[in-house]
Parts: sequence; structure tokens; C-alpha cells
Amino acid sequence: MAKKKVAKKKLGQRKKQAVSMNRKSGTNLSAAVFCNAVSKSESGKTNCRDVFTSFLAWAYPTSYRSWFAILTLYNLPPGTTTIVVSISHGRGKKTTLAKAKIKCPPEDLGNIINIPLRHKFQNEGLYIVHFNVVGTTKVLKIPLNVTTRPWPKLTKKELAFLQNNPSLLHSIRMVVKCSNCPSLYTFEENVLAEEKLENGVLPFPDSGLFKCNNCGHKLQLKDIQGQLRSSIKMSVIMFRKGGR
Ligand SMILES: [Zn+2]
Repeated sequence: MAKKKVAKKKLGQRKKQAVSMNRKSGTNLSAAVFCNAVSKSESGKTNCRDVFTSFLAWAYPTSYRSWFAILTLYNLPPGTTTIVVSISHGRGKKTTLAKAKIKCPPEDLGNIINIPLRHKFQNEGLYIVHFNVVGTTKVLKIPLNVTTRPWPKLTKKELAFLQNNPSLLHSIRMVVKCSNCPSLYTFEENVLAEEKLENGVLPFPDSGLFKCNNCGHKLQLKDIQGQLRSSIKMSVIMFRKGGR
């Protein structure tokens, strides 16, 4: 009995020491969320809009997805603290997404920072975003799910509704930059097939692959096309429900 008590006491002491070591060793990462847009309020507070935990994808690799991580830090040490943000999928290797440098605030208060992130997802499934304070072993892991959506086909009724309401959204253009050279291309998704495209505007290729005229790099466009078609379909669904 006595031995157990001593052991417990020692464990308690070790825990206390560990906590105090953690405090001494600096920054604590307490929370992170992902959102699509960030703004600062007049009082200097960070507002995040469209908080999310998963991306929708129509094909792989996806187009580059951009988002923000909002991170809360405590006990910033004097000087500059670096946070490395990386992403992993299953047992795959970690890929670095960003390195953020934060200067110590005048007081030791909770500090909220936003880090812009960008990534092209190769597969669906669960990804883990890792936040690591450089020089420490502290890591905060936040899950991020990538979910495959079915190809957004418009039904005969939806197409007929669009034909009868030509003022509604039926085509969207997107300027795509070659990821290997400065060339720009304008693609248009038009669900009313009989309309001709303007000069200089290209249709999305059926294969989803477009070879850059300048450098020969192959651009993967299927996911972007799916996003555009999905917006058109959603607009038709909403207007039909609204009884227009
Ligand atoms: Zn190119």
C-alpha cells in the first residue's frame, strides 16, 4: 500500500515537472480551424468565414485548393517563432504546406494567427494537417477530409428549364494558368451545347487533360470543370425550387 502511495506521489511529481517543463519550453498550440475567408474586425479580432472540415472533389488530382488555417498560440517566447504546416494522407510522406513566422507579442496572451494554405489532393479520404512549432516537439494535428462527388449531370428537366429561362446561369468561364509556364487559357463550361464559344475561349476537353501550347505541360482540368458544372446545377435546382 505504502509503496503504491509513494509511486503515485512520484508520478504526480513527474507530471507536474512535465507541465512546468512544457511551460518553460515555450509556445503552446491550443486550437486550429480551417476556413475559406479571413477578415479583421475594427477591434483587431480575427473573423473567419465558412469554417469547414472537408473538401468536395470531382476528379483527381484536384485543382489547387486554397484555404486558411486559424491557429491559436499561447506562451510565445521572445523573438520569432516558426510554425511549419504539413499535410499527410494515410501512411504517405508529409508534404510541407507553409512556414509561418510569428513575432512575440508585447504580452503573453493567446495569439490568433491565420496561415494561407494551398494544396492539390491526389486521392480522396482522410488527410491530417500537422502544425509544428520549430525547435520543439509540439505538434497539433487537425483532420481534413476529401470527399468525391458524383459528376454533376443535368437532367432533361433541368436542361429544359434552363432553355426556357435563358437569363439564368448556364455557362461559366475560368482562366487557368499553366503550372509550368506563364501561359493563360480561358475555358468555358456551357451546359446548353448549341451555343458557340467566342474566339479565344476553349471548351473543356473530354479527357480532362489539356496540353499547354507553349511548354507541352499537361493540365488536369476535370476537377475544375466539375466545380463549375456543380455551380450551374445548384443554381438550376434552387431556381426550380423557388418556382421561377
Ligand atoms: Zn505551359
